Amino acid sequence: MDRVKDKVALVTGGGKGIGKSACLLLAREGAAVAVTDIDEEAGREVVEEIRREGGKAEFYRLDVSSEEEVKEVMAAAADKFGKIDILVNNAGIAGVNKPTDQIPAEEWDKVIKVNINGVFFCTKHAVPYLKKAGGGSIINLSSIYGLVGAPDLPAYHASKGAVRLMSKTDALLYAGDNIRVNSIHPGYIWTPLVEELGEQSPDGKEAFRRALDAKHPIGHVGEPDDIGYGVVYLASDEAAFITGSELVIDGGYTAR
Ligand code: NAP
Repeated sequence: MDRVKDKVALVTGGGKGIGKSACLLLAREGAAVAVTDIDEEAGREVVEEIRREGGKAEFYRLDVSSEEEVKEVMAAAADKFGKIDILVNNAGIAGVNKPTDQIPAEEWDKVIKVNINGVFFCTKHAVPYLKKAGGGSIINLSSIYGLVGAPDLPAYHASKGAVRLMSKTDALLYAGDNIRVNSIHPGYIWTPLVEELGEQSPDGKEAFRRALDAKHPIGHVGEPDDIGYGVVYLASDEAAFITGSELVIDGGYTAR
């Protein structure tokens, strides 16, 4: 119940999928949570759910690709809760699914702006608050596709590779400030993002899911809480000696 008691967490893309799970589990373990998302309805519902369970949360509309918005929301959350200890850089998009030689530059840039610049802006503007709090934990959602390649989604895979190394660089830069920075590398997790990929699949959503299940040695795709529990672990003091590391939660996908 108290694994992150009295800590304050800010989660991006917290309205759905993995981000929603992270918000709910962090709150259940005692953190006050700034739930942020571009989907206001979904984000507000998560806040209501946390409050119904007796937890503390507030919603902030935040598009992570806007540095101005990031700066304002960090300040507002720190003002509301008195500090920020935990940043979960979760917001991300799959983006354009075409071979590299057919991707228009603006579609490439769209993915980079959310998946890379978003992590950069949020980290940049959270660090002063984490320093002020005497340290903290930054958790960046990379992917199995920050570790291995696949013949699809070129911009997504590029972005997740970048997030992996941004995490290590920041781990080194801020270790002296007692700020830990780690990446999480999920296999396929059944969230709205992956469901949408299924809907676009020519074989239909169910066949898509079965094909994904078969890619994981454990026999099925993951659920958001499989990642949410990883977030709680890295956010908590149980992970006090862990920085610059890669938490792979992928049902064995990358073990082969
Ligand atoms: P999701 O189901 O699409 O949920 C992500 C949330 O972020 C949505 O509410 C989305 O809003 C929001 N969002 C999109 N663009 C945003 C922006 N610019 N600023 C703020 N919020 C924004 O995604 P997910 O599957 O939970 O994935 C979460 C993270 O885990 C992503 O970084 C993803 O790359 C990573 N990941 C996921 C998987 C997987 O299999 N699901 C695997 C590996 C890594 P809208 O729905 O309105 O766009």
